[in-house]
Amino acid sequence: MPGFERFGDLEREQLQDVLNNGVLMRYGFDGMRNGHWKAKALEEELKTNLESKYVQLVSNGTSAVSVALASAGVGAGDEVIMPTFTFVASFEAILLLGAIPILVDIDETLGLDVKAVEAAITSKTKAVMVVQMCGSMANMNGLSQVCNKHNLLLVEDACQAIGGRYNNKPLGSIGDLGCFSFDFVKTVTCGEGGAIITNNKEYYINADGFSDHGHDHIGSDRGAESHPFLGYNFRISELHAAVGLAQIKRLPEFLAIQKKNYTILRNALSEIPEVTFRTVPKGGQESYSFLNFYLPDLETARTTMDAFKDNGVDVCWNYYDNNWHYVRKWTHLKEAKSLFPLSKDIKDALSVLSEKTFTQSDHYIGRNISCLIKLSWTEDEVRDRANKMKEAILKSL
Ligand SMILES: *Cc1c(COP(=O)(O)O)cnc(C)c1O
Repeated sequence: MPGFERFGDLEREQLQDVLNNGVLMRYGFDGMRNGHWKAKALEEELKTNLESKYVQLVSNGTSAVSVALASAGVGAGDEVIMPTFTFVASFEAILLLGAIPILVDIDETLGLDVKAVEAAITSKTKAVMVVQMCGSMANMNGLSQVCNKHNLLLVEDACQAIGGRYNNKPLGSIGDLGCFSFDFVKTVTCGEGGAIITNNKEYYINADGFSDHGHDHIGSDRGAESHPFLGYNFRISELHAAVGLAQIKRLPEFLAIQKKNYTILRNALSEIPEVTFRTVPKGGQESYSFLNFYLPDLETARTTMDAFKDNGVDVCWNYYDNNWHYVRKWTHLKEAKSLFPLSKDIKDALSVLSEKTFTQSDHYIGRNISCLIKLSWTEDEVRDRANKMKEAILKSL
């Protein structure tokens, strides 16, 4: 997955353009730029790539989620449904706006369970945030139907799934708003960066202003621009956008490598009857950034992880005891350990969460092993890895 594995001359040339004219900021300084608008150019590339009318770049993927929610009017007291298996960024982005994260179970897709989502809807629910974890997707037809039926916003976090598709649409473009991260370990990286995509003009205009202190970006005199609403600074810099611009052009190359490496590993593991693979919904095509498979139970998954370590198989995880990606170890969230006072609504919801168990999620996460697909592996290395993985699993069964 990480695009940094293939950094080269393209990235250096783009960066050099910015350093040559010295304009590190994405707005203003028109005269000094020699025609270089890296953030604008990257937004144009992403529009084409992600088949969306509007793209707003921001400082990172976490801020992309906050900006997306704020742009659609989600805030204090609103409930946002999110999965138990994701990255901590999901609840951080919700809490930043004073909104309330409501965690619900995942299913065999490793994404939100449609029935669990519907059961969690209350009169305060404003949005459903689906997270397309590890290069694949939740049951998007089911989730879209539930959101339509209950008039809820569908926000799609596709930070780990750039290049994946569903019913021939790019992941991220199915919900009302989609979010991407270009942090250092993502498929397309620029160090720190993020993007919001949407076909809704109003959401886009809101995202554009909100991520830059509420500036309306009308005219060519930044100092004279007005502020139709309050905003923050979630801007991306030209340095970051320049690297992103080089990387996005290489996405087809990265996806092809991911698919090739993934397929070798998957074919090898398919020979073991006890191994099953994560369900990809009908009409879905993974980005192949990870290979996810299930073992019969948590014990076998743990033994297999130990055997992977003994065999030198790295970049694989069982998320059951993971601090970053699964609800079980999010004690700072459950105990509401905030540096500043939280609203009563939020504290009440977190107190309910601290008492909750998620047996259905435990059932899938406990048995799952998730392996990163690297871009820098040679074919020999992938085949060697496949053999070592197979051997370790067979030993553990
Ligand atoms: C990486 C990631 C984010 C956050 O992105 P940053 O750019 O690191 O802030 C959000 N959601 C998911 C699913 C991610 O993997």
